[in-house]
Amino acid sequence: MHIMEIKKIPVAEPDLTGNEIKYVKDAILNEKRISSSGHYIDKFEANFAKYCNRKYALSVSNGTTALHLALLGLGIGPGDEVIVPTFTFVSSAAVICHVGATPVFIDSKIEDWTMDEKQLDSLKTPHTKALIAVDIYGSPCNYDFIEEWCKKNNIFLIEDAAEAHGSLYKNRIAGSFGIVSCFSFFGNKIITTGEGGMCLTDDLEIFEKMRVLKNHGMKRSGVYENEIIGYNYRFTNVQAAIGCAQFERIDDFIETRKNHDNLYRKLLSSVKEVSFQPISADVSPSFWFFNILISKDVDLVRSMLLKKGIETRPLFNPLNSQIAYKEFSMGRNFPVSEMLKKNGLTLPSGTLLSSFDIEYVVSELRNIFITI
Ligand SMILES: *Cc1c(COP(=O)(O)O)cnc(C)c1O
Repeated sequence: MHIMEIKKIPVAEPDLTGNEIKYVKDAILNEKRISSSGHYIDKFEANFAKYCNRKYALSVSNGTTALHLALLGLGIGPGDEVIVPTFTFVSSAAVICHVGATPVFIDSKIEDWTMDEKQLDSLKTPHTKALIAVDIYGSPCNYDFIEEWCKKNNIFLIEDAAEAHGSLYKNRIAGSFGIVSCFSFFGNKIITTGEGGMCLTDDLEIFEKMRVLKNHGMKRSGVYENEIIGYNYRFTNVQAAIGCAQFERIDDFIETRKNHDNLYRKLLSSVKEVSFQPISADVSPSFWFFNILISKDVDLVRSMLLKKGIETRPLFNPLNSQIAYKEFSMGRNFPVSEMLKKNGLTLPSGTLLSSFDIEYVVSELRNIFITI
């Protein structure tokens, strides 16, 4: 008997249909460099620094190690407090614990889901040393306010732009904010190298410190001299070869995502159970994940969509509610983040989706709302 296959629509899938294989082949067969030096690394770092208007770029093993190096490079450690959104991917806060500092959670604001900068004053203490601003789902924060606030209070600003490659805030590009900014090139990000990350800065001294920490605390490669205790957070020439191919298409990727976003918004505009992630007028996002809030039970809707072959994601779980991070919530409430978690879901968002796929997702979602 013939069983009809349901088409599977993944929530996020890397688009590796450009020069990825060609460049990887070149790195392996011609350049013969597969570890942590090679011309693809140099090119990828130079391309990305230029793209983000930064002087220095340091490729690293992933976005989490990028954030870790940023904190280490700034000398953040035990006794220090770092303000970070509770509504983010876990790495933004984990690295604060890795350096022995204390995360202080800040809620999001309903207007655009980024951190509620109006709460900053009430969270500041004499121990506050840094603020990690997260461009959540590709939407940059209110940087006019945040930059000014950090400057006034002598607090380091770190930009976690892991979801925001190519996003703009008032025509300034994500990755250009703060003393250090960090990116991830994980498989579901705007551009990917499988695993990978980047630290960007304009400060040569901090760059040098991060560069040495990344490579076992050795100032020079191949010479066994250690002035400080370091890490191995290196990135490979093979990953960079993929990255160079991805970078060639970054503008196209964002354009495709923008078109998908427009189509979803158009098709869902009359669905009364659905509202969208609001986008601030100051911002042009990377359109990383297409998120909605629904007035029905999210788990039920997700399981019904999955039966139709449609993969979705819940939104980020506020970190203050997680077993590992509860102790840092200090008994405070984070109503906006909790609401986003309760009502939100991510619909399929990769660049390989067709308009037909999006129409299918929306029509199945409509059908589900009729039956429940
Ligand atoms: C993906 C992500 C990271 C971590 O990146 P990895 O490369 O997976 O380590 C950090 N912060 C945010 C906001 C992310 O989305």
